[in-house]
Amino acid sequence: MRFIDEYRDAAAVQQFARALTALVTRPWTIMEVCGGQTHAIIKFGVDELLPREVTLVHGPGCPVCVTPVEIIDQAIAIASLPHVIFCSFGDMLRVPGTQKDLFSVKAAGGDVRMVYSPLDAVNLARAHPERQVVFFAVGFETTAPANAMAVARARRLGLKNFSVLVSHVLVPPAMEAILSSPSNRVQGFLAAGHVCAVMGYHEYPPLAAKYRVPIVVTGFEPLDIMQGIFMCVKQLEEGRHEVENQYARSVRYEGNRPAQQLMQEVFEVVPRQWRGIGEIPRSGLGLRAEYQEFDAARRFGVTYLAAAESPECISGLVLQGVRKPSECPAFGTRCTPEHPLGATMVSSEGACAAYYRYRRPARPAAPSPSP
Ligand code: SF4
Repeated sequence: MRFIDEYRDAAAVQQFARALTALVTRPWTIMEVCGGQTHAIIKFGVDELLPREVTLVHGPGCPVCVTPVEIIDQAIAIASLPHVIFCSFGDMLRVPGTQKDLFSVKAAGGDVRMVYSPLDAVNLARAHPERQVVFFAVGFETTAPANAMAVARARRLGLKNFSVLVSHVLVPPAMEAILSSPSNRVQGFLAAGHVCAVMGYHEYPPLAAKYRVPIVVTGFEPLDIMQGIFMCVKQLEEGRHEVENQYARSVRYEGNRPAQQLMQEVFEVVPRQWRGIGEIPRSGLGLRAEYQEFDAARRFGVTYLAAAESPECISGLVLQGVRKPSECPAFGTRCTPEHPLGATMVSSEGACAAYYRYRRPARPAAPSPSP
């Protein structure tokens, strides 16, 4: 398959791994920011090819994982209302709130629908003027332009029965929060290629300079990731801390300007809670005052719902690269994809789900019955 097979070429990946082994002289810890990269690393065993001096830790770039429990509870409260059609991407439906998830609401008769685009929700609002249609607008900079487009379109159409429950988060402030934490052990970053396809990478040089960390914009296939690690380690070994672009086939320095303009028209930067991490200043997007009429939390009065996380879940430490999923005492026992305690076990991009799927120790075979 063109543009996929080339980047999954085992010989090319191993060649980079050998070059990396020849290059490295001391221990380095690198964080891949995006959950998509985490899954590729674990699925293809990229980390198992690395010299033992290089440690990968997994970052907070899984939008489902970092959406706060309070927002999930707000979604559940809205979706439970009889006159509401609640629309969401599929991953969000299984994320546990304080007591239940959106699938439970659907099972109890709520009108919860999985959509593939926020514009599907706008179309539903046009088709059902007697119902309130709400779209769950979560994600990083990658999904924000399409969600902004849906809100702008709803306003152009004069829709009074469409709104969005917004929980957008931004990558650079999260990277800065990790770097400024006393427990930080990250010495270099693989930045998320798809976020940079939208936003470019002009936001990163001040971060690289301030914290003296190399940042390599990196793609999602095994060869991308191995090359990104090589570029990052090369900088570390040479004492450089620059921003480089491994994912040049998709990412330009300035990013996608029209998409950025659309985001800026509809959203403004706000402080945002991150699940398991807490509030990070200027790390999210909220609707601008001109678009407040489309704010579902205000429309349905669910702004102030307090919520609690499972005390067992250490996903906040996992998302900051401080712990690995397999170091969680509940991993694979009390917490599984069927019964997740935290969002990192739910999402297809969650680090705990990746470890469960690809790295769980095989169960010992059951003893054969005696003859
Ligand atoms: S294994 Fe489960 S309980 Fe442990 S950190 Fe991951 S999501 Fe939380």
